[in-house]
Amino acid sequence: MIPAQFDYVEATSVADAIRLLAEHGDEAKLLAGGHSLIPLMKLRLVTPATLIDVTHIKELSYIKEDGNNIVIGALTRHRDVEQSELVKKHLPLVAHVAGEVGDPQVRNRGTIGGSLVHGDPAADLPAAALATGATMVIAGQNGERRIAAQDFFVDFLETAVQPGEILIAIEFPKHTNAGWAYEKFVRRAMDYAIVGVALQLGTKPGVALVNMSNKPHLAESASQAIAKGAAIGDVLAVINDNTNPPEDLNATVEYRQHLARVLTQRAFATASK
Ligand SMILES: Cc1cc2nc3c(=O)[nH]c(=O)nc-3n(C[C@H](O)[C@H](O)[C@H](O)COP(=O)(O)OP(=O)(O)OC[C@H]3O[C@@H](n4cnc5c(N)ncnc54)[C@H](O)[C@@H]3O)c2cc1C
Repeated sequence: MIPAQFDYVEATSVADAIRLLAEHGDEAKLLAGGHSLIPLMKLRLVTPATLIDVTHIKELSYIKEDGNNIVIGALTRHRDVEQSELVKKHLPLVAHVAGEVGDPQVRNRGTIGGSLVHGDPAADLPAAALATGATMVIAGQNGERRIAAQDFFVDFLETAVQPGEILIAIEFPKHTNAGWAYEKFVRRAMDYAIVGVALQLGTKPGVALVNMSNKPHLAESASQAIAKGAAIGDVLAVINDNTNPPEDLNATVEYRQHLARVLTQRAFATASK
C-alpha cells in the first residue's frame, strides 16, 4: 500500500504543464484530484517516475457559458459541478451525476477532467459526457485539438489523451428544459455503479451505459432510436447492442444486461415526467 518512489514537480500554468510533460516524457503523470491515480500507485499498478501536480492551475477551474455551450475547466471539482447554478439550469443531468460520484470527500477533491481521462467504464461522469454529446479540448505542444466524447474513450482506462497532452476543458452543448435521468444501481450508497444509465432527451438525445463495456459506452443504436421517436420497447430492444459487460462477484453478464433494460425503462419514466 506504499507507492513506488517518484519525483514531484508542480505546474503553475497550462503552458508549464505541457513543458514539464515534454521534459519528463512518458514516465510522467499528471496529478489532479489524485482519487484514482493515488490508489493505483499504492497498489503499484501504476508507477510513474514523476508526478506533475496540476492542482494549483487556477485557469483550469471554472464553469462558464459560451453561446450554446457550457464550458467546464478540466480541474473543476465534482462538488463545484454539482452545485453550479449554470450547470443545474442547462445541464441538469451533469450536475446530478457529479453529485452521485463517491462520497463528499471524493467530490471535494476529484476533478471532472481526472474522471474523464481516467476512462473507467464504471465511472459516472463519462456516461454523462457521452449522453450529452460533450467535446473534449486537449492541449499539447502542437496547440489545441477537440475530440467528441464518443471518440475520446478508446479502451479500458485508455483515452485519446496522448503522452505530452493535457485535457483542459469540456464543452457541453446546452440541454436546457429537456428531460433527463440518471439511474445508478448500487448495493451500498457511495459505491461505483454495478450498472448505470445516463439518459438525455430533447433535440439531441443520447443514452450511455455505465459498467457495460470495457470503456464508457454510448448506446448508439438506442440513442438513434430515441432521436427518431421510437417507442420505449424498440429502444429497450437495442439498448444492449455492442455491449460487453464484465462478469464479477456483483453480477453476471445476463444480470447486467437485464439491469440495463430495467434501468433504461426507469430512466425514461423519470425523464418523461
Ligand atoms: C473512495 C472513492 C470512491 C469513488 N467513487 C466513485 C464513484 O462512485 N463514481 C465515479 O465515477 N468515480 C468514483 N471515484 C473516482 C473519482 O471520481 C476520481 O476523482 C476520478 O476518477 C479521478 O479524478 P481525479 O481528479 O482524482 O484524477 P487523478 O486521480 O488525479 O487522475 C486520474 C488520471 O487522469 C490523469 N489526469 C488527471 N487530470 C488530467 C488532465 N487534466 N489532463 C490529462 N490527464 C489528466 C492522471 O494523470 C491520471 O492518469 C471514487 C474514488 C474514490 C477514492
